[in-house]
Amino acid sequence: MNILIYSYIFMLGLIFGSFFNVVGIRIPNKESLLGRSHCPSCNRQLGAVELIPVIGYLILKGKCKECKHPISIKYPLIELITGLLFLVSFVFLRENMVEYILIVVFISLLVIITVSDLYYQIIPDIILLVFFHQSRMQKLAIIKIALKALMLTNSIGDIDTEQWIQHHHIMMLMVWTM
Ligand SMILES: [Zn+2]
Repeated sequence: MNILIYSYIFMLGLIFGSFFNVVGIRIPNKESLLGRSHCPSCNRQLGAVELIPVIGYLILKGKCKECKHPISIKYPLIELITGLLFLVSFVFLRENMVEYILIVVFISLLVIITVSDLYYQIIPDIILLVFFHQSRMQKLAIIKIALKALMLTNSIGDIDTEQWIQHHHIMMLMVWTM
């Protein structure tokens, strides 16, 4: 059961890492976060399989299918690092979901500013503002949600994986939409 939860957390980290690549690269250019990723050289939109974190890079062997322009190793590395950070902090903090969620928010901030720093040598103020402006109100809200989720999981007794994953997912979504 542990392996199932750990793989789930790791995959969630990979997906978030892929999103943080997009945020860190597009925000400094004032680009929308909504458009689909494309090759920076020939502008070809990436297909669904190519968008899968890490796997997409391996399938393409690090080159654009169309123009053979090399794809930076930074993309899969950022995805892997995020996946590992999500997983390692979960292994250490799984007994304390409040701290885990706060750490995940903090890791997210660090990864996004690392991406911007790697690509443009800048740390966009807007990213810091979004995180810190919200952190005061968010802290209270996150703690409340996490406590509720903990109470629910405790009332079931032993942690039920399926329910736990559902709670976890809802919490992540709420943290990100707040
Ligand atoms: Zn291309």
